[in-house]
Formats: sequence, structure tokens, C-alpha cells
Amino acid sequence: MSKGGRVVGSQQSTDVFVVGGGPAGLAAAIAVRQKGFRVIVADGSVPPIDKSCGEGMMPETLAVLDSLGVKFPRGAGQCFRGITFIQDGLQVSADFPRGQGIGLRRPLLHERLAARAEECGVQFLWKTTVTGIISGTGTVQLPERNIRARWIVGADGQGSRVRRWVGLESISRVRQRYASRRHFRVKPWSSCMEIHWAGKTQAYVTPIGEEEVCVVMMTETPAHGLFKTELHEMPALREKLLGASLSSRERGAVTAMRTLRRVQKNNVALLGDASGGVDAITGDGLRLAFRQALVLADAMAANDLTQYQRAHRKLARRPMLMGNLMVWLGRNPRIRARVLRAMHGNPELFARLLATHVGDGSSAHLVATGAQLGLRLLAS
Ligand SMILES: Cc1cc2nc3c(=O)[nH]c(=O)nc-3n(C[C@H](O)[C@H](O)[C@H](O)COP(=O)(O)OP(=O)(O)OC[C@H]3O[C@@H](n4cnc5c(N)ncnc54)[C@H](O)[C@@H]3O)c2cc1C
Repeated sequence: MSKGGRVVGSQQSTDVFVVGGGPAGLAAAIAVRQKGFRVIVADGSVPPIDKSCGEGMMPETLAVLDSLGVKFPRGAGQCFRGITFIQDGLQVSADFPRGQGIGLRRPLLHERLAARAEECGVQFLWKTTVTGIISGTGTVQLPERNIRARWIVGADGQGSRVRRWVGLESISRVRQRYASRRHFRVKPWSSCMEIHWAGKTQAYVTPIGEEEVCVVMMTETPAHGLFKTELHEMPALREKLLGASLSSRERGAVTAMRTLRRVQKNNVALLGDASGGVDAITGDGLRLAFRQALVLADAMAANDLTQYQRAHRKLARRPMLMGNLMVWLGRNPRIRARVLRAMHGNPELFARLLATHVGDGSSAHLVATGAQLGLRLLAS
């Protein structure tokens, strides 16, 4: 992988120009190259790009990566087999119905995606910030020149400027929360990803190596020193991390549930966090972005970006539902305590919820699980 590699020569046009070389932009570039289109990706940073992330990939996320030809070397990251919820000494766990997840440091994921994109023949403009686009003419403006593209993809993250430039953000719903990530040098104590709940804060722990875990702390209001103030509310987690040294610098982030009315206009499409997003607690942002990349490539091959608009809406339904449920539980400690007790008494309920979350159940399945949970709550 040629770090900071540039487009050779001064190419003036391409089929697809991707603004943003994060996970979504790189996945789109790979998917679109696989359809035979010429692709240029521009990013203001250089790989491998780090970002505050829980670094957990669900089994379905790995399946989509596999279909993009992104493989991980043996021993990369750390596998986990399911999810555990923990609150006030109560613990409920379930395994994924199929396969395993992987916890992997974010720069390693980025490195693999960029290497695969380069292997596919994607051209890069690293350290290049896109300064504007003229969507009608398909012109992408760079600091020193313009490039014409048949299609432009805005994969420039949560604060997307492409979204603003093409006027796609005027009507959207946004729910923000605040997060902070730390890596700890400690042997993972569980083979599951753990979510610790306390008050209106959650911490989720992903095993990412034989001697390392990633912990993300999330809350409703912006606060400095989240770990200092919140960890003592989570005694089970605090005990595990006692004496463990930090293995990276702390990184803060905003996580948002954002729904856009439209993600496509003329020859421009938004993708990944730029196109909306799910709260970090779902651990589903990457999967959603990778799936969007595949349906976007199909829409381009069919020469019909409105097809992408429809597919995008469909893909967002389940993660949005689960995201809203998780955020709501986060905001309502008393109801959450009852829900956890109900699941503790009937672990099958939690297993079914997890199965739905990772794509192994229909909406009807979710409604049936919800109804059963409701009955248990009424009975408790
Ligand atoms: C705290 C936290 C924890 C999370 N944990 C998980 C998890 O465990 N599992 C999971 O699946 N998801 C998780 N997510 C979600 C996941 O990180 C995002 O969904 C994912 O990063 C989206 O990728 P993206 O490429 O759309 O955006 P980004 O990763 O933000 O990439 C956008 C890229 O665009 C570039 N860019 C921006 N503007 C320009 C411009 N004008 N010109 C050129 N380049 C530009 C930026 O440099 C950046 O590289 C988490 C999110 C947060 C905040």
C-alpha cells in the first residue's frame, strides 16, 4: 500500500469520484470498481486513518466485507461470540445465531480496506480536501484543479459538507450523544462484547487483541473526563480495568441517530455516516455503510441512482429501530432494570433480540419478541 499515494498524472475525469476515504468511501470504491467503473477517492487525511470507534464488527459486517474481498490475516484482532448486558450485578448474555464477531483496531481495518481498494485499481488522492462540488455538471473542486465525474459519492462522515453543498440536509432528524474511547492493556475477560449500563451512561467493551480491550463510554450530555466520572458507577467494569495501563490516547466523539429525507440528488449520492447514521451503541454503523456501498454499486450499474435511494431506506429500517430502542433504554434506567430482569428470567428473549439485531429475524419476529417481553413486564 503506497501511503499518501496520488493519482498518477493529472487525470481530468472519472466515472465515480468518492469524497472521503473512511470505511464507507473505501467500501464504495471497491464495490464500484468491481462493477468495472473508474474510481477516484479523495481524503484530507492519510492512511491508516484512526477514529473514535468501539471497533466491534458483527458477523454480518464480516460477511459483507468478505463479499468485497476484504480478508483479515489469521490472528488479526480478537473474535467474540455474542453480547452481554450488565447492570447492578445482573448479567444477561446471548451468542450470535451464526458466526462470530471480530474486534479490530480501527487503523488495521482502514489499512485492509485501503489495500483491497488499491488492489482493485482504485486511484487515491490522500491529503486532499475536496473544497466544493458542482452537482449539475459533476465537477469536483480540489485545491489545485477540478475533476469531472459521472457520479459523485459523499462519504465524508457525520459532518458531511457534500450533504450541505447539494442541499440534502435541510429536513433531517438528529439525536446526538457523546462518547469517549480508551484502549486498555489487559487480557479480555470475556468472549462476548459487553455493554455496561449505569444511570444514563453506557460503556461497551470490545476484546480487540490477546492483551487488549477497547472501551467506549457514552452519555447524553457533553462532559469532560467521562471515564473519571462514570467508571465508578460501573463497579464490575471498574474492577476489571483496575491497574490496566492505557495503550492509546483517549479520543472523544459525537454519535448521532440521523435520518435524512433523501440521500441522492441528481448524480450525487450520500453514503455511510454522511447519509444518516445509527447510535454507536448498536455497533452497526460499519455494517450499514458496507451494505450501502454494495447497493450503490448496483444502482450505478443499473444507471439509476433512485434505486439506491429506495434500497438505502430499506437498509436503515432495522438498525434505526434497534438504535432507537437502545437509546430509549439508555434514557430510562428504571424500565431498563425491569427489562433486564425479564430477560434474565427468560434468556431466550435476549437471544431473539440479538438475532434480530444481527439480521437473523424478520420485523414480525421482533414484534413477537417485543410482545412477549411486554407480557413479562406486565407480569413482573
Ligand atoms: C464512539 C463510536 C463508536 C462506534 N463503534 C462502532 C462499532 O463498534 N462498530 C461499528 O460497526 N460502528 C461503530 N461506530 C460507527 C462507525 O464508526 C461509523 O459508522 C463509520 O466510521 C462510518 O464511516 P464513514 O466512512 O461514513 O465516516 P468516517 O469514518 O467519518 O470517514 C469520513 C472520511 O471523510 C474524510 N473527509 C471529510 N470531509 C472531507 C473532504 N471535504 N474532502 C476529503 N475528505 C473528507 C475524513 O477525513 C474521513 O476520513 C461507532 C461510532 C462512534 C462515534
